[in-house]
Amino acid sequence: MNVENLRKKIPALGRMVYGRPLVYLDNAATSQKPEEVLDMQDSMSRFSNGNIHRAMHILSTESTSAYEKARERVRAFINAKSDREIIFTSGTTASINLVAESFSRAFVKEGDKIIISEAEHHSNIVPWQLACEKYGAELLVAEIGDDGRIKMEQMEKMLGEKDVRLVSICHISNVLGIVNPVKEIIAAAHGHGVPVMLDGAQGIVHGKVDVQDLDCDFYAFSGHKIYAPTGTGILYGKESFLEKMPPYMGGGDMVGTVTFKKTTYAELPMKFEAGTSNFIGQSCWTPALDFADSLYEDKELSEEIKRTEKSIIEFIFGELSGMEGVRVLGGTSASGDKIPLFSISADGVHPSDLAQIMDKMGVALRSGMMCSEPLLSKFGLTAVLRASFLPYNTFEEAEAFVRSFKKAVGMLR
Ligand code: PMP
Repeated sequence: MNVENLRKKIPALGRMVYGRPLVYLDNAATSQKPEEVLDMQDSMSRFSNGNIHRAMHILSTESTSAYEKARERVRAFINAKSDREIIFTSGTTASINLVAESFSRAFVKEGDKIIISEAEHHSNIVPWQLACEKYGAELLVAEIGDDGRIKMEQMEKMLGEKDVRLVSICHISNVLGIVNPVKEIIAAAHGHGVPVMLDGAQGIVHGKVDVQDLDCDFYAFSGHKIYAPTGTGILYGKESFLEKMPPYMGGGDMVGTVTFKKTTYAELPMKFEAGTSNFIGQSCWTPALDFADSLYEDKELSEEIKRTEKSIIEFIFGELSGMEGVRVLGGTSASGDKIPLFSISADGVHPSDLAQIMDKMGVALRSGMMCSEPLLSKFGLTAVLRASFLPYNTFEEAEAFVRSFKKAVGMLR
């Protein structure tokens, strides 16, 4: 297997746009899907569309079996201890909101503190603001330096404060493309008896995640960023916490018995899965994660991917750093904690204009504030242009990106 063959499994990557081959570099927003995922989604929708856990008929038993098999596939993928620790949600945002509300209801009281960082996506800021407002807690924000790294000394100091209840930070920033030293942060937090939640929306996609090795207490991620359908997500939580947390939503499938006087709740993980889940989408975790694993299991392929990612990082930093008034956020090509994700600003040119012109050249990019307004304003910016790569991208696509970027900047200046 090589990347060229891998790309043939993903129909969208073979598309032509405006008469040119599509160069898809908006992967941090969402990934393109391989045939195996599309086929399963299609065949379940056509032939096995029976609501899960509820009926004795064959359509329901087939979909229930696919759904629970997918839960086990996710458990194995992140090496959780038990499938009781794998909660299906609609995405990272839903997973973080679940913890922000339910963990806070169980463990947070007036005057307590929650720590996040300056490098968070809005979905790891706003749910904590809502929870802090509701439960009377204070939100502490760990600073990052100009190089995009968390200031560890300051983080240590914050962890030492009284009544810190939880740290919630991203594994990898969706703006900086920097891998946070999460193992170190988790160990430091645990040293103070503080649990840690990781926003793994980007982290799950770039390299293996082992929740037991990390020893994180919660890990949230979205299916659509890792080759699974949209509207699918996971909350991993240590059983010891999930057991003590109250349900987030009430409804069908999450109960033991219901009377008007008192309702008892289902065992984990069902306690947190009220209502009809996106069971077809969630079942597709199985082929999606098989695909993700195949990238690392084939030695030749994984070597090719590693080599290409390294050369893309060196090439883009090299080409762009030579351009006047152009800035790439988040370190240099030499930093080992960098994924191929680049947020760029060019003096005198609006990123959305660049993205629009480059789209017409066949290059699909993201522009705007990346749902990270506080982080951008820290760097004195209101918008950036973001190019984000996945293992299915090629070096030639990085060259096409740089070519079209230079041309578009030239046109606009
Ligand atoms: N956190 C990070 C770091 C992200 O990149 C994203 C998606 N851009 C999210 C959270 C939110 O993910 P979703 O919209 O899939 O819930």
